Amino acid sequence: MDRRALEEFFLSLGEPKYRSMQVFKAVHERRLQSFDEITDLPKKLRSKLEEAADISHLVVESRYVSTDGTRRYLMKTADGYPVEAVFIPSENRDTICFSSQSGCPLKCDFCLTAKLGLLRNLTPGEIVEQIIIVLNDVYGVAGETPHGTNLVGMGAGEPFLNFENLIAALEIMADEDGLFIVPNRVTISTAGIVPKIYEFAGLENRPHLAISLSSAKDGLRDTLMPINKRWNLDELMTAAKEFEGSLRRGERFTFEYVMLGGVNDSDADAIELARLLERYQLSRVKINLIPHNGAEQLDYTASTPERVARFKALLESKGVSAYVRQPRGRDIYAACGQLAAMA
Ligand code: SAH
Repeated sequence: MDRRALEEFFLSLGEPKYRSMQVFKAVHERRLQSFDEITDLPKKLRSKLEEAADISHLVVESRYVSTDGTRRYLMKTADGYPVEAVFIPSENRDTICFSSQSGCPLKCDFCLTAKLGLLRNLTPGEIVEQIIIVLNDVYGVAGETPHGTNLVGMGAGEPFLNFENLIAALEIMADEDGLFIVPNRVTISTAGIVPKIYEFAGLENRPHLAISLSSAKDGLRDTLMPINKRWNLDELMTAAKEFEGSLRRGERFTFEYVMLGGVNDSDADAIELARLLERYQLSRVKINLIPHNGAEQLDYTASTPERVARFKALLESKGVSAYVRQPRGRDIYAACGQLAAMA
């Protein structure tokens, strides 16, 4: 519930409005996960709330810690569906990667999450609670959240196929009396749900955008990311161009490109990619090259570091900014495309 819904809920209980604010802050600012802990509420009200509502839905089943410090949380919803979030520490800033769905309906051929299929959409509460759980684990309950913790909607699921709940969650997280994680610190990644890219572009206070591309050719992208058969590269790039028009001062957006050895990583592929951007006159973009994270069930291998470096250099020689995303948490199945509720 956002602030307004919570207010109405308290009024319906016959409780004064100010109690709703007290509870909103307890949940989102102090990150308390049971009514019992909100000791500044009268005991009677706490039991009344216990009866009428659930403050928390997710239960952490297990937590895995990588040799590189990355942490993967495997949680379960109240009805038993898996939800995963990842904490990625780095020198200057920490990042939390959250999921928008349990499983995923898209069938990207190189992604392990795809093997789960869609289990169900996550509610706004289940999206927000992932962040609360991770923050509490890392910084302690009610601990100060260091400024600059970034969020990425790059976990399991396709955020733009759960658009309403995603936006509701982002609004709750942005509340200055709550987590106060503003959209400017959030990046949402989509596989290319074209109509939602237009809708996202029109949002007043929107997060940053990343688009998963992985090929600049329709034929290959059809195979790698079957969503391309629904919205092809022309439709996607036209939407991307429109989105570029919504960028703020100094803002850029990202294309993610999973690097698959011998599949989409040749010199010709790099040139094709640079040409595609040129054709749509996209200039305020950067390319994130993601070496493939393998798994036994996946028929792909990562491009060699030499290939990745050459691909990057070729893009740069065509005036395209390109970065290599260093794999994090591969050893605990926490890296991109590895979230598959693995115990
Ligand atoms: N469904 C959204 C959100 C997931 S983001 C989307 O596709 O954008 C996860 C990112 O990891 C995507 O860019 C995806 O292309 C990439 N990815 C998927 N499987 C991967 C793998 N095995 N190795 C590296 N990156 C992968």
